[in-house]
Amino acid sequence: MRSQKPAQRFIVASQAAVADSSLRGKIENATGRHLEQLALTRAAFAPFEAERDAARQIKHDAISRLDELLFELRTRLEKNGCKVFFAATAAQARQYVAGVARAAGVKRVVKGKSMTAEEVGLNAALEGVGAQVFETDLGEFIVQLRGEHPSHILTPAIHLSRQDVGALFHEKLGVPQSDDPQVLTAAARDHLRNVFLSADMGITGVNFAVAETGTLVVVENEGNGRLAHTMPPIYVALMGIEKVIPKLGDLSHFLEVLARTATGQKLTAYTSFISGPRRQDEADGPQEMHVVILDNGRGAMLADPVLREALYCIRCGACLNVCPVYRQIGGHAYASAYPGPIGAVVSPAIFGPPAAHLPFASTLCGACREVCPVRIDIPRLLLHLRWNATQAPEAREWPRPWRRVTRGIARFSRLARHPRLARLTGRILRTLCRPFARNGYLRRMPPPFSGWTRFRDFPTPGGRPHQPGSGPK
Ligand code: SF4
Repeated sequence: MRSQKPAQRFIVASQAAVADSSLRGKIENATGRHLEQLALTRAAFAPFEAERDAARQIKHDAISRLDELLFELRTRLEKNGCKVFFAATAAQARQYVAGVARAAGVKRVVKGKSMTAEEVGLNAALEGVGAQVFETDLGEFIVQLRGEHPSHILTPAIHLSRQDVGALFHEKLGVPQSDDPQVLTAAARDHLRNVFLSADMGITGVNFAVAETGTLVVVENEGNGRLAHTMPPIYVALMGIEKVIPKLGDLSHFLEVLARTATGQKLTAYTSFISGPRRQDEADGPQEMHVVILDNGRGAMLADPVLREALYCIRCGACLNVCPVYRQIGGHAYASAYPGPIGAVVSPAIFGPPAAHLPFASTLCGACREVCPVRIDIPRLLLHLRWNATQAPEAREWPRPWRRVTRGIARFSRLARHPRLARLTGRILRTLCRPFARNGYLRRMPPPFSGWTRFRDFPTPGGRPHQPGSGPK
């Protein structure tokens, strides 16, 4: 498995996930519940579509003048007493945070949820300088206990059932076996309470960073993030450059759509506004606050006039929940901190060639575009990335079936540009296929089309236009 190329590993992992009916059942259940809740909350909030438009417009504006806003943010944060570090790469971010921990002799770190920390591999860097890292978001805590990475950007343990978590807690925490969510949550709380009290450093991600005021906004449901940025003497906030928004007044539009799309709530339980370390007259808060602002491939996305739209993402996770591919294979098969449709878009820029195949992990059905609270046209971005990937030298290394398919599509595209020739070809193919067709469909075809006809019939070429979803086996 290790010696395989990333694209082959993805295929093998996807096939294993698809064959695991228990895994698929858990993911289908969780994402299905989410979609029901989302439909209810959207229907009950009439201005939802207008808020999506407003949020998109603000992101469009912010991304188009990112350098100016980042400069303003940095100035405000420093004025508020924060130390700001711009990390061009994941390695720089790791080194900076590990350096802060080493210099302060940090032994215990409590982490709120942060996909950016996952992206840069922060835990290993902190452990490398002798710090023990505790994930405190319940889902993150569970996957950490299992020695796994999150399988969803919002619900890290989506691939596990209550029974799985009960067995895990029984084994690792020594608590009586239970599948009652309240009992399990209380067990995790008990375990983490002392950790919070003795932590030297807290780390969280950032949902929004307001340039106008130098305010970091963290939204969450468990309160662990708030404890992580208020209790330990040192607090580190880790954010991508795209998290900046111009004004405090812009925030309400994002809060209106984020919780509704992410969890089907009107608002998350905790919305924290963090502007700097504890002031002299304040009773709590960190004595030292660092803000790490990460590029790590985002600048390249910004420079691409098509791909820059991906930087509008507010990481609500809804596109994963609607994606027919994600719902079948879960997050681990992607082998990226960012799985699912948005992960397939941003991973090649963030992780480079090892993730170049991910834009192909999509049916382009468009469900992600429909659900996205900032209306990111993910299918368009995926097509753009697919085109780029086929032009890259690494494309020569892809598995043979993929190369055949891309060559075939390129030939079809050339043919489709000449309607007369395309019609003539269609007529010839229809005549050739007629002896094998039944009711306008072929039931079996030779490779490379046999993968299709193994599961569904293929419309006879040159017949009536194919309707998606028609002609099932
Ligand atoms: S692309 Fe849109 S739907 Fe997907 S996580 Fe980002 S904001 Fe949410």
